[in-house]
Amino acid sequence: MSINFITFNELKDIDIMYDFHIHTNQTDGQESIETMIKTAIDKGLNKIAFTEHVRKNSDWFGKFAESVKETASKYSGIEVLVGAETKVLDKYGNLDISDTILEKSDIILGSVHSIPDEKGGFIDFSTLTPWELAEIEFELSKGMLKYAPIDVLAHPGGMYSSRYGGFPIEYFKELMILAKANDKAIEFNSKYIKNAYDFLSACGDIDPALSVGSDAHKAEEVGNCKHMLNQFEYKTFQRRASK
Ligand SMILES: [Zn+2]
Ligand SMILES: [Zn+2]
Repeated sequence: MSINFITFNELKDIDIMYDFHIHTNQTDGQESIETMIKTAIDKGLNKIAFTEHVRKNSDWFGKFAESVKETASKYSGIEVLVGAETKVLDKYGNLDISDTILEKSDIILGSVHSIPDEKGGFIDFSTLTPWELAEIEFELSKGMLKYAPIDVLAHPGGMYSSRYGGFPIEYFKELMILAKANDKAIEFNSKYIKNAYDFLSACGDIDPALSVGSDAHKAEEVGNCKHMLNQFEYKTFQRRASK
């Protein structure tokens, strides 16, 4: 992991003044790179990452990365990273991303966005029971944490949560343990986490490296994640070593 993510129990307010999950109108976001940078500055963030949805054949990525760097060079006081959000293709951590994009990225978010059928296709979500979906999403996430070249597991349990509510706390815990063992961060995602209380309790127990990501598709969503951590008083979940 090249980015120095801070572990949950060590986080201070200054450490969460960033947003590492931002989209633009290059893919399904609504705003330009510049609008998102300006908004982040207005909201007092000191670091952001553009993490566009990519696929193996996203040949626009190099040009996009250049425009991010070029636009960012006009502003001071904020560090701007460029990277990608990529979806997992199987339980062995294979990703829908090319080596070229991996090389050009400062940060890689790994996501479960669809459920692979292990034959090159995808399963319709509606054919799965909630329990089956939770189980499969958990397995796919574990595969990424063990084997994939990602920095962050993005929106853990997000496919389940967006349909059925809170992802089981035992699963959060296991994913956090695996993230730690494999030197990866786990994302606190303000859009998908429906049981923040459980997630933060698990963070206090396991103390994983945490990434703060809003999955911002609009300017007003930039920095939401930091806001939500404060709303839930994340510090009250922190455990201090008793020495
Ligand atoms: Zn996503
Ligand atoms: Zn996203």
